[in-house]
Amino acid sequence: MTEIEIPRQLLPSDGRFGCGPSKVRPEAVRALAEQSPGFLGTSHRQAGVRDLVGRLQEGLATLFSLPAGYEVLLGNGGTTAFWDAATFSLIEEKSQHLSFGEFSSKFAACAKAAPHLKEPEVISSPPGTRPEARADESVDAYALTHNETSTGVAADVRRPRHEDGRPAAGLVLVDATSAAGGLRVEPAEFDVYYFAPQKCFGSDGGLYAALCSPAALARIEASSRWTPAFLDLRIALENSRQRQTYNTPALATLFLFSEQVEWFNASGGLEFAAGRADASAATIYSWAEGSDFAHPFVEDPLARSHVVATIDFDESVEAAVVAKVLRRNGIVDTEPYRKLGRNQLRIALFPTIEPADVEALTACIDYVVAAL
Ligand SMILES: *Cc1c(COP(=O)(O)O)cnc(C)c1O
Repeated sequence: MTEIEIPRQLLPSDGRFGCGPSKVRPEAVRALAEQSPGFLGTSHRQAGVRDLVGRLQEGLATLFSLPAGYEVLLGNGGTTAFWDAATFSLIEEKSQHLSFGEFSSKFAACAKAAPHLKEPEVISSPPGTRPEARADESVDAYALTHNETSTGVAADVRRPRHEDGRPAAGLVLVDATSAAGGLRVEPAEFDVYYFAPQKCFGSDGGLYAALCSPAALARIEASSRWTPAFLDLRIALENSRQRQTYNTPALATLFLFSEQVEWFNASGGLEFAAGRADASAATIYSWAEGSDFAHPFVEDPLARSHVVATIDFDESVEAAVVAKVLRRNGIVDTEPYRKLGRNQLRIALFPTIEPADVEALTACIDYVVAAL
């Protein structure tokens, strides 16, 4: 069955549909190769790399329209390391977590395990749905996830509010790893918007960026508990202000990240990037709704992610076999999130991916299912 050959004219121009690491733009890779002699293999403490880090920080501030007083922190270890750092430098005593999939549950688990924190409040909802935050005087940090990559559910980034309309006093920490650069966001609604660049930013993993409000910066600067240096956001902040990271970063990752930010900013900013994801989302969800064997996993159309689509298949079609045939034809990483255990495909709609390629992918899936 996996011998099925998809006709060449149906194939997308690029077969990478994975949710991370995800498609890297060939233009960025060429630029890296061209500029490599003066950049790769040079000191990250010298002007060449520090200038690029500064451009990246300013580029992110422009892309997200950050108000004066916000700062861009960079550090090594990706989002997973940032969660541990947050348990030291951003959660004072007690956090509240919205848990609706693998990634959002992981940060909750970090806070739960930290012996120096109180038991966190965890508000859960079943996979495919999203819970609501509740303003609570005893909570000093709310952990939201802009896009739950494991299920394809997007949630609005909004500061929790008390019944009388007052915004909650706690910091709003948003895991935007797969959302940043693909979904719209208002800086007034978050205190920390953190992510790694291997998703919408078409770069490699291992780095985190955190857009911090003045309130978040004040919390970081005031934190006084013992913290391992690698996880200490005070040290990350000091280094970021010097356009450096505490320890050696991957220079190729920084370069590709900055190329992508500059591509977005030169093309119309976040509206341009989110518009590409919107176009791909419209294609895939309308195809699934019209299909006689596939349908969107997320029932509420407003919760359906525009950066990660999860498409369930009827029992008559084995999604795992479809993914295998696609892979043999050069279309990779459409497999579902393993632990979700559903008969589905998961498809990245990141801005790097050509909307026309998402259209081509739907034609390829139809071809494979008909051939099976
Ligand atoms: C990919 C992802 C992560 C993990 O990122 P790492 O850089 O691998 O630590 C965390 N949260 C979300 C929402 C993700 O999509």
